Amino acid sequence: MGRDRHPNAVLLIGLGRFGGTLAETLQRMGHDVVAVDANRVIVQEWSGTLTHVVEADATSEAALRQLGAEGFDRAVVAIGTGIEASLLAAGTLLDLGVPEVWAKAITRQHGRILERLGVSHVVYPERDAGERVAHLLSGRLLDFIEFDKGFAIAKLRAPRSVCGQTMAEALPRRRFGVTVVGVKRPDGEFGAVGSDTVVNQDDLIIVTGPTPEVERFAAATA
Ligand code: ATP
Ligand code: ATP
Ligand code: CA
Repeated sequence: MGRDRHPNAVLLIGLGRFGGTLAETLQRMGHDVVAVDANRVIVQEWSGTLTHVVEADATSEAALRQLGAEGFDRAVVAIGTGIEASLLAAGTLLDLGVPEVWAKAITRQHGRILERLGVSHVVYPERDAGERVAHLLSGRLLDFIEFDKGFAIAKLRAPRSVCGQTMAEALPRRRFGVTVVGVKRPDGEFGAVGSDTVVNQDDLIIVTGPTPEVERFAAATA
């Protein structure tokens, strides 16, 4: 691949459960993915599913150069448990000038070091999945995403405190600090919510706001 540029391709290091799912999803979405793993068995397992799978040690600058890493605008380091390998791979990709490097971290400490190296996005899949399942398990939330630090969007059954009145009367933003952005009637599709929309107890709603407010809104009102 030499010094060719691959502006729309993603270089993915590590085909574990997280990296493998990420690679497969990106490819399905139409992105070019070049996936790298040091383990020959894993490379073979994925070679039927992914178009470009390469066996290489991503901690080696020579190996990364050989597969043209410096031509990628985006790379993801999806090595978790080997923290040393994760840091070496991320550092080498940054040294080679890859502008956007994402990396998976398994602990806060790991994540902080990745950030200090210059990694642009640190993700914590195990921690995020744990938080998400806690929200779903705890009751009324049917779906929940914290899409930024401290800011969430959730799907839930309409709490009684906002039912039977218009949004202008129920004032969820003033009373609870959340915004109702969507409503689904029992027999309908999701639609937009305006100040004259009335929600009922058998409707599903989408709310967004600071995570503690979304949690309080869902929990406090049966
Ligand atoms: P997951 O939880 O997503 O399954 P993990 O966090 O447990 O993964 P590992 O299993 O340690 O992470 O690593 C993921 C993949 O990265 C493995 O398939 C492993 O072979 C690969 N890998 C580890 N070190 C390197 C390296 N230096 N170069 C390339 N690939 C590597
Ligand atoms: P994660 O990726 O979420 O960190 P994992 O999928 O790699 O976790 P393990 O680390 O193998 O999973 O197991 C998670 C926890 O479950 C460990 O703390 C382990 O001690 C515990 N555990 C494993 N087997 C049992 C068991 N039979 N009974 C109770 N606890 C167990
Ligand atoms: Ca894991």
